[in-house]
Amino acid sequence: MNNLTIGFIGLGLIGGSIAKSFKAKYPDIKIMAYSRSKNTLDKAFEDKTIDIILDDIDERLGGCDYIFLCTPVSLNEMFLEKLRPFLHENSIVTDVGSVKGNIHRRVEALGLEAHFIGGHPMAGSEKSGYDNSNGHLLENAYYVITPTDASPKARVDELIALVKSTGAIPLVTDYNTHDYIVAGISHLPHVIAASLVKLVKDKDTPSKLMKQIAAGGFKDITRIASSSPDMWQQICLENKDNLSAILDDYIDALNSINDEIKAGSHDAVYNLFEESGEYRNSLPDKSSGPIKKRHAIYCDIIDKAGAIATIATILAVHQINIKNIGIIHNREFEKGVLSIEFEDEESSLNAAEFLRKFQYNVYVR
Ligand code: NAD
Repeated sequence: MNNLTIGFIGLGLIGGSIAKSFKAKYPDIKIMAYSRSKNTLDKAFEDKTIDIILDDIDERLGGCDYIFLCTPVSLNEMFLEKLRPFLHENSIVTDVGSVKGNIHRRVEALGLEAHFIGGHPMAGSEKSGYDNSNGHLLENAYYVITPTDASPKARVDELIALVKSTGAIPLVTDYNTHDYIVAGISHLPHVIAASLVKLVKDKDTPSKLMKQIAAGGFKDITRIASSSPDMWQQICLENKDNLSAILDDYIDALNSINDEIKAGSHDAVYNLFEESGEYRNSLPDKSSGPIKKRHAIYCDIIDKAGAIATIATILAVHQINIKNIGIIHNREFEKGVLSIEFEDEESSLNAAEFLRKFQYNVYVR
């Protein structure tokens, strides 16, 4: 891998993170990059992530074994077309876009199937830009790879190895399956979260009591409503057929449970929560997949000065690191005033044991 030459078009959060990860793993790899911002390219050159700054899409990109398209999805399609005249026999273009259908269809229209392997790293953050990129971003995240029918098998295997070198978990599927899956587990949840927040905003009381006491479950399920409007506008519209189909199914499901609630149907309402709860609890956690489990305990404390410091001291004395700590103000359906989060399960169980010895009421969920 060390003798590969890799090009990047777009060097923001995702492009920058992939480039940094490659350079850390294979210091002799040659990386060239083109991006809208010259400042970004200068920074990446100074911190030795890239070796060559490109001021245009030109024949130098033809010398790359892989070219990563890392600009917003619709621009990736435009750059694919600009790149076409410079591609050599061995050039492979890959992209990191969150939706795969349109770019694959553009690849087919341009006759570039033998030069293209789609990709989607399922990692990111609400922040963007090269300044927020880091070489560890992709670790333990799925990285979906969508070859075309004509993608050379040896190059797909090599790309899989490159993806593995970033710490990501490669998963190969076709682009239609990718777009169907992400509509259900990513795009629909974003639309639901955003619509739910907007509903509460519109239906709040004049004194905004909903906003004041919204917490716990509401915050959990709406966290992703704070995602970038630019990016999610693009993603929803790029995957509109899959998204609107599953949105129709979801509206049907809501209408159906609404009918059961109106009819006072005890069994149907119970069964919804029972079946969903069982399925939710069966989702993979850290030990079997990339969904990271939260290791938290909840603890009752009395409201007096130094109460949190006492707990922090007990844990520090026992060499247990706290990742996050905070008071839960709305504890309906929840026990424990104080939430304390740890890096791993062992720390959370040890913390619970030590605090119980000091007569604290501790809940592990
Ligand atoms: P970003 O804003 O951090 O980076 C985008 C990069 O593209 C920047 O370097 C920017 O300068 C460059 N760019 C924008 N317009 C350009 C233009 N006209 N010409 C040249 N360069 C231009 O965004 P990001 O989060 O890195 O997203 C990039 C891609 O990664 C998108 O296709 C997105 O779908 C995909 N993706 C993002 C995430 C995420 O969570 N952020 C996750 C998976 C995939």
